[in-house]
Amino acid sequence: YYELYMNTLQEKGHENRYLIVFRDRTEEEKADQAKNEFVSIVSHELRTPLASILGFMEILLNRDVKPEKQKKYMETIYKESHRLSNLINDFLDLQRMESGRQVYMKVPLDLGSLTADVCAQWQGKEGHRLLLKLPDRPYYVLSDADRLTQVLHNIISNAIKYSPHSPDIDVSIRLEGDQCYVDITDYGLGIPEEAKANLFTKFYRVDNTDRRQIGGTGLGLAIVKEIMEDLGGGVTFVSRFGEGSTFTVSLDSYQPQSVSGRIVVVEDD
Ligand code: ADP
Repeated sequence: YYELYMNTLQEKGHENRYLIVFRDRTEEEKADQAKNEFVSIVSHELRTPLASILGFMEILLNRDVKPEKQKKYMETIYKESHRLSNLINDFLDLQRMESGRQVYMKVPLDLGSLTADVCAQWQGKEGHRLLLKLPDRPYYVLSDADRLTQVLHNIISNAIKYSPHSPDIDVSIRLEGDQCYVDITDYGLGIPEEAKANLFTKFYRVDNTDRRQIGGTGLGLAIVKEIMEDLGGGVTFVSRFGEGSTFTVSLDSYQPQSVSGRIVVVEDD
């Protein structure tokens, strides 16, 4: 973004001369955009759950409500507060990553055991069965355990959320050349063709009748993409609408250098 000024020089003898000034406004423009985005998010995304919380609170405080209705209203308040809290956390996470303030602690990690830990947290949730296929030896990557956990957590929670009638989720680890992959496959709703290009866009949610009732912020996959880029890896998906999806996370494989049986951590350059 450049700002352009043009002035005629007024001094005598310089009447036909002009002064042209270019000013680089790129950084200011970026800051303006971030501010606008923040304002629009606060007004649209945060107001809706807050309005619903306030509305139900008001009814509960000011009117006689039957006990069974009371419980229903309180459940809505709880659900909406939870949504608000997730939205704020996800939004702040993404802001931190986009502005380069996120610190990544890269250490050698066994991808299989990290994936197994995340799967264990989700096993049985909403009646889902996670089938984890692990290799017979550790596959190491040099990465940040917390952020990689966040990535797998977001993808697995989507696999569960968007498979309301298909309980099986397959998770596997593979090594091809110098790349390690985690594949997460569900047999659920799948992704409509026209939604595929926008899936990793902030606040983008598929607005199909098959998933209107499923809650979310539209930030989960944007966070996944941002983290994987920052970690020097990648994320892709293949999906057939109505049949299911496979999300794949990839990272460079890492060979810890073994000296007399002990693992030595090598500095990342
Ligand atoms: P959220 O789940 O909060 O809406 P995400 O960024 O995680 O946001 O996902 C964006 C959209 O992509 C979702 O609204 C959903 O429709 C679609 N999606 C993501 N993962 C899956 C999946 N495993 N199966 C079907 N649709 C999915």
